[in-house]
Amino acid sequence: MASVRGTVKINIQTCKGCELCVEACPQESLKLSKEINAIGYHYAVLVQDNCTGCVNCALVCPDAVITVYRSIKKGGKRELKEPIATITHVSRDIKVSIDTLSQSQQSIGRVDI
Ligand code: SF4
Ligand code: SF4
Repeated sequence: MASVRGTVKINIQTCKGCELCVEACPQESLKLSKEINAIGYHYAVLVQDNCTGCVNCALVCPDAVITVYRSIKKGGKRELKEPIATITHVSRDIKVSIDTLSQSQQSIGRVDI
């Protein structure tokens, strides 16, 4: 049976170190760095290889700097899939696309604020 795991990519230069993603992660995969970025904030980093791709962190990030990926293991090889959650234009709308890995159950939600 295929096992699903996730990973995140964080734009560390625009992260403001609010720590919301750290609190929201059920796996305790995220922490704030000791270093600071170009705008003077400790930024979020992935510190454990146990991300499940649950998307919580991307949903709570007020600066939309987290992209979540899921990978699936087939026949001993792990394949990284396309991003499953990208949040854009937070000041005007939130757009989230979640791929449940079945390809047939994709949902797109948009909230205008
Ligand atoms: S996708 Fe889920 S498990 Fe992975 S870092 Fe974000 S909150 Fe944690
Ligand atoms: S929620 Fe976003 S801005 Fe806040 S620490 Fe995490 S990545 Fe940085």
